[in-house]
Amino acid sequence: MSGIVIAVDGPSGVGKSTVCREVARRLGLSYLDTGATYRVAALSCMNEGVDFGDADAVVAVIETMNVEMMLDPDEPRVTLDGEDVSRILRSETVTGMVSEVAINLDARAVLGEFQRDIIAHEVTGGRSGGVGIIAEGRDITTVVAPDADVRVLLTADPEVRVARRALEIDASDILDVREAVLGRDAKDAKAVEFHEAADGVVTIDTTELSIDQVVSAIVDLAHRAVL
Ligand code: C5P
Repeated sequence: MSGIVIAVDGPSGVGKSTVCREVARRLGLSYLDTGATYRVAALSCMNEGVDFGDADAVVAVIETMNVEMMLDPDEPRVTLDGEDVSRILRSETVTGMVSEVAINLDARAVLGEFQRDIIAHEVTGGRSGGVGIIAEGRDITTVVAPDADVRVLLTADPEVRVARRALEIDASDILDVREAVLGRDAKDAKAVEFHEAADGVVTIDTTELSIDQVVSAIVDLAHRAVL
């Protein structure tokens, strides 16, 4: 018997990471932040001085980068060549470039394979001991793990997402945050559909829900899926 896979998609600022990490803690799952794989790909390309417009060069860097994803929901870290780069991945510089990787379809294919391998490893063993994994991103329910046991799309009113992100990063200028969140959405939406749920995907509009309510809803879906 193999472990459970929970796939969660949604736009930036919707609260995916907070919710998914808590679901992972409650169910004993590993946690995969696929956004971090895009971020570390962007960082690798920047370190190598690659022109983001050169799609093949970007793919070549991603195919050979030495990345390890730590799947502990209490401490989800990423290493590049053995160095912990988790903090730098959240920097404005990386955030500003990450969509350049996301719109490169060949890069998406390589990163998607990398993510699928991690998921496959966790349902039969790995860090979770085969209990399973929750993976969050933009295309997990549709492309990376369309056969997941639970597939959820989180949505929220755009202004609520801007406010949540501002609170999370303790921002002083809400206009900057609005531009960062909505501007990135607009760029990302060119590569992947994450505002409309695909068939079989449960939409949870989190606009008026607490974190705990969203977590409970996903945990309920997980229990029903394995009954
Ligand atoms: O979730 P996070 O904001 O860290 O994601 C960073 C970026 O990675 C997104 O803005 C998007 O460009 C890309 N991404 C993606 N597909 C995913 C996860 C993230 O294109 N499954």
